[in-house]
Amino acid sequence: MSKVPELFGSMVFNESVMKERLPKDVFKALGRTILEGTALDPTVANIVANAMKDWAISKGATHYTHWFQPMTGVTAEKHDSFITPGIESGVIMEFSGKELIKGEPDASSFPSGGLRATFEARGYTAWDPTSYAFIKDNTLCIPTAFCSYTGQILDKKTPLLRSMDAISIQACRVLRLFGKECKRVNTTVGPEQEYFLINKADYAKRPDLILTGRTLFGASAPKGQEMDDHYFGSIRPRVKKFMAELDEELWKLGIYSKTEHNEVAPCQHEMAPIFETSNIAVDHNQLTMEVMKKVADRNGFVCLLHEKPFAGINGSGKHNNWSLSTDRGENLLEPGSTPSSNAQFLLFLTATIKAVDEYQDLLRLSAASAGNDYRLGAHEAPPAVISMYIGDELGAVVDAIVSGANYTDAKKTNMDIGVTALPDIPKDTSDRNRTSPFAFTGNKFEFRMPGSAFNVACTNTIINTAVAESLRQFADELGKAENFEQALSELIVREIKAHRRIVFNGNGYDDAWLAEAKKRGLHNLPSTPEALSHYTDKKNLQLFTRHNIYTPVEVGSREEILLEEYGKTIHIEALTMLDMLQKLILPACMRYAKDVAEGVALKKQIGLEAPVELELVRDLTEKTAALSKAKDVLAEKVEGAKHVLDHALSAAPGSVGARTKSRYYYDEVLPAMEETRKIADALESIVAKEYWPFPTYSDLLFYV
Ligand code: ADP
Ligand code: MG
Repeated sequence: MSKVPELFGSMVFNESVMKERLPKDVFKALGRTILEGTALDPTVANIVANAMKDWAISKGATHYTHWFQPMTGVTAEKHDSFITPGIESGVIMEFSGKELIKGEPDASSFPSGGLRATFEARGYTAWDPTSYAFIKDNTLCIPTAFCSYTGQILDKKTPLLRSMDAISIQACRVLRLFGKECKRVNTTVGPEQEYFLINKADYAKRPDLILTGRTLFGASAPKGQEMDDHYFGSIRPRVKKFMAELDEELWKLGIYSKTEHNEVAPCQHEMAPIFETSNIAVDHNQLTMEVMKKVADRNGFVCLLHEKPFAGINGSGKHNNWSLSTDRGENLLEPGSTPSSNAQFLLFLTATIKAVDEYQDLLRLSAASAGNDYRLGAHEAPPAVISMYIGDELGAVVDAIVSGANYTDAKKTNMDIGVTALPDIPKDTSDRNRTSPFAFTGNKFEFRMPGSAFNVACTNTIINTAVAESLRQFADELGKAENFEQALSELIVREIKAHRRIVFNGNGYDDAWLAEAKKRGLHNLPSTPEALSHYTDKKNLQLFTRHNIYTPVEVGSREEILLEEYGKTIHIEALTMLDMLQKLILPACMRYAKDVAEGVALKKQIGLEAPVELELVRDLTEKTAALSKAKDVLAEKVEGAKHVLDHALSAAPGSVGARTKSRYYYDEVLPAMEETRKIADALESIVAKEYWPFPTYSDLLFYV
């Protein structure tokens, strides 16, 4: 590997490249656009585009693309080459400011949730100058937002950028009340990415993995994760090589890949980057997932990003570490060392607690998908109930605020909760609670619900907007106060009291918590259809419109897209199961039963009993018959979906129809899939290995 500092960002048109390649005034104008969002002058855009093109060509690029994040959850690109016919002959390489700033991909094949009829298929992409252009596969990629021609948003980046503006405006208002001038407060995100690596050769033999990303069948291996020997265990050399190559590729793209380690489940690993501004962190995470797959492929692996590729062992999440920091680099969730900076910290903490309590449903649905449903609520992942962990020490501060008592810190110093003498809040010294969905971890919050395959733009849009709303209310109230300190103190006490129910420091995996959460009136939304039906709740529409994130129509379209995606995912899974049953599993069972039966007959011919074979062939026959029946039931349910869909859609198009559909898949198709799998897995455990038609969990998870 060449030297890391040289390698780092070598494929990125970043600030130092711009400085080197752009005339001073152009560099400055671009800087203003990046910092303040001012529009870019067309002549400036032309100069930037030309410099970008020359730089890209010097790095071997031949094409460019607007790189965007439609509602599919993956990124999209349409490549154009730089070539233009030359005046005399041949070609010249060209790239104009117009091409940099705006693209017009045909938008008709991207999900729009009824926003854009196909006859109005035009959509456009607009350059996001705050995220650097980069080169991937000989193509200059320009990060862009994606909208319909009428300006309705069709992607995940636009709302994120808007939410970042919204929270910045409100946080700056609050800071001004503390006597601090600041132009911008940025949200920061460090998404920890979990994934599985399995052998490509095994993967190729499993239609379920190929078509759905997860195993639809598979009895548990004799060994799982009970020995706790994989987590942080030494990394096998092949995986080590993968991680080294991954780091190198990510570093070239300017992605701060920092930590690589083994996770809890066999074959499960994690990459944690250093945090960045939210929209860049999201862009980089999307890229990371793509690069992981490519590097895995080069190394004879397949990288599984599905939330629950294997039943019975941990699934994969994407922990969304989130904080706020000012343009002067002050982390607003860092407990301060003086009483007044602590008052400011407590206010931002209170704002977050209030936001999480008031918009539990939105946070929950931001992590909802068919894949993540299999993970949430299982023993390794936070339950579907949103709660917050703030640690013992902060917990004590909050308790004292609620009870009006004096706070006694670990050093037994009496503290008055009045703002003028707020406690010197210690850094989190208690154990981290791994079971909490939304945990304060010293100077940031870690939201653990999002799934590994997610684009966390949506999650961050929601956190940002919800916290912006708390801050807006606080700034309004405090701005009017005659005695700021007293008003601040009263506000914190009142809001903490009102939202304390969301704070839970105990074991989130405990069943008793679910009962307790119910008593506290917290939402428990175990499935995607249930969670998503809250998207358009009145309070949520009000939130989004107030902060100019989405129009109500746009929210409805999002709900519809996500519900449809849910139904389609289960539909494909069910069809894949039926296919595997018919073509692989049932024939294997029959073949094995036939051979065993022949063994019985042969033994009988020579006058021997065959009790073991007989017992086995009976068992095989019974279970195969049960499996065949379960398959028929499943097929019927899948078929039934069509009628429910037609009916639901004719009765109520749009998201209401999509709700009925998704409920049908959840209520009817999923249980039939589960039942079928149970019988197939039981058969797997009695059929001889050489007959089983695809690699088992032992093969997949315990390779050398
Ligand atoms: P873990 O939670 O696994 O113990 P760390 O606490 O070291 O690990 O950090 C986890 C992630 O949190 C990293 O990706 C890190 O960059 C990110 N992180 C740290 N500080 C912040 C912050 N202020 N804002 C957002 N993310 C942060
Ligand atoms: Mg973590």
